[in-house]
Amino acid sequence: MSPTPPRDSLVFDAARCCTYVRHARDVAARLDIGDLVVAELADIGERLAALHLVALVAAGWCANPKCGADLTDPAESPSGARDCRACRVGWSLIEEAGRLRAIARPWAANQDRV
Ligand SMILES: [Zn+2]
Repeated sequence: MSPTPPRDSLVFDAARCCTYVRHARDVAARLDIGDLVVAELADIGERLAALHLVALVAAGWCANPKCGADLTDPAESPSGARDCRACRVGWSLIEEAGRLRAIARPWAANQDRV
């Protein structure tokens, strides 16, 4: 059996998939293959982008664009969220309609977890 890949490997794989699907959607749009194909590739791209956010949070990184700060240990938070001290948001992985999604909730105004 091959060794377990590092936790962040899914982050990079999902990002590469997003880039590749975006490229495929652009190619399909230029080929006049039909709006349905373009729309389906766009839908797949959106789902991959959502999975990229899940992979980021699962690996312990803030999924806000241009942040990427380390998240706190969810065991330390009463809510079970992984907090980003830079963005002041708590990230949670929540199942929605059979799919895991990363949800960010801003800290309460009077909250001080630092
Ligand atoms: Zn952040």
